[in-house]
Amino acid sequence: MKTNLDPNFLAPADLARADTILRSCVHCGFCTDGCPTYQLLGDENDSPRGRIYLIKDMFETGQVNAAQVTHLDRCLSCRNCETNCPSGVAYTDLLDIARGAIEQQQTRRVTSRVGRWLLRRGLGLPRLLAAAFSLARQMGRWPGLAKRLPVRLSQKRSSGSVVITQPTPQKVLLLAGCVQQAATPNVNLAVEQLLAVSGVEVVRVAKESCCGALNYHLGDHAAGLADMRRLLHTLDAAGPDAAPIVSSASGCGVTLKDYPSHFPVGDPDHELAHRIAARMVDVVELFNDHTIKAAPMRVAVHTPCTLSSGQQLVTNVADVLTRAGIDVVALGPHLACCGSAGTYSVLQPKLARALQAKMVTALTTHSPEVIVTANIGCQMHLGAGTDVPVLHWAELLWQQHEALLAAPDLVPDR
Ligand code: SF4
Ligand code: SF4
Repeated sequence: MKTNLDPNFLAPADLARADTILRSCVHCGFCTDGCPTYQLLGDENDSPRGRIYLIKDMFETGQVNAAQVTHLDRCLSCRNCETNCPSGVAYTDLLDIARGAIEQQQTRRVTSRVGRWLLRRGLGLPRLLAAAFSLARQMGRWPGLAKRLPVRLSQKRSSGSVVITQPTPQKVLLLAGCVQQAATPNVNLAVEQLLAVSGVEVVRVAKESCCGALNYHLGDHAAGLADMRRLLHTLDAAGPDAAPIVSSASGCGVTLKDYPSHFPVGDPDHELAHRIAARMVDVVELFNDHTIKAAPMRVAVHTPCTLSSGQQLVTNVADVLTRAGIDVVALGPHLACCGSAGTYSVLQPKLARALQAKMVTALTTHSPEVIVTANIGCQMHLGAGTDVPVLHWAELLWQQHEALLAAPDLVPDR
């Protein structure tokens, strides 16, 4: 694609990066069919190729218009287009540059700007979130109010009866995640217990802060980079030196694995970003080589975009559960994203609900007892759209492992 970008519209590094990405697109359209918003709306401007043209126009004219903002806001950042692109176009990087430019130009209404500011600030404060979710959890005990909650929350349970085996010298650092530790604290308890019975010692990260995804993907690049830099140094100081850093929220994990792209050569944290990113694993990667047995159950697996397109861990959760003895049911036809997508379900509620309904239909086609996923946002968003319980897969695996210990005659044949 030929370009003639306005040299004054973007900072020099963004200008060069945007130019390279735009020129790598050959407008073949292979990316469009797998794009959830294109499949839903049928408008080329809501496809990756259409959005690339809108961004090119913005960067060439040096002007932001309402149509560009509308169609770029509708993008889920699910990365399915990157997976399907034969030319390796770094679409998400381009989109992030465009979103940063939109925020810089301040073209949004004041109410929209205030709402986005509150989201960025509020969701990055674990204590405030914990208080809010605790209140919501109490409301969730009352059936009438539970139906009105925009998200479904797990009821906190104690980890009291757990038998933990002797830990081996192998250690991991466990990230709790801002939203996850407040909304579904059982998930990290389950992860710790699964790792403990696998002989892995878990060290929690003290003074953990936001990974930066929230600010960065909402276009506040300066705040997002500051968040990333803060967490980089926290993790560097947390030790042990070479231990894997584990995330059980795939949205946070993919952001940390992407850190090197935000700290180019010349940045004082360039080398640190590479070192930390190389240590990052999603928790499912720790179960690639061994099996934890579990009592059988019919389960539908939702694979978040941040795990499949973001981390290329497409079948890992289903594989771990199948090896455990859990019956993983097939899904019906579905789009690539459930509509959660960070703050998307709040900022684009109508589209998010349409995507949620399609995903729930696909997941419940074969009547599972439970739906599992691997990211807190997806868990809450899907949970609000179905009466089938939606859990993190680690929580389900631990629950079924305990059930098997309590009733060993449930040992599956496999
Ligand atoms: S982003 Fe990739 S798949 Fe989509 S039009 Fe451009 S080159 Fe083709
Ligand atoms: S990131 Fe997802 S929603 Fe956005 S253009 Fe790509 S496929 Fe479509």
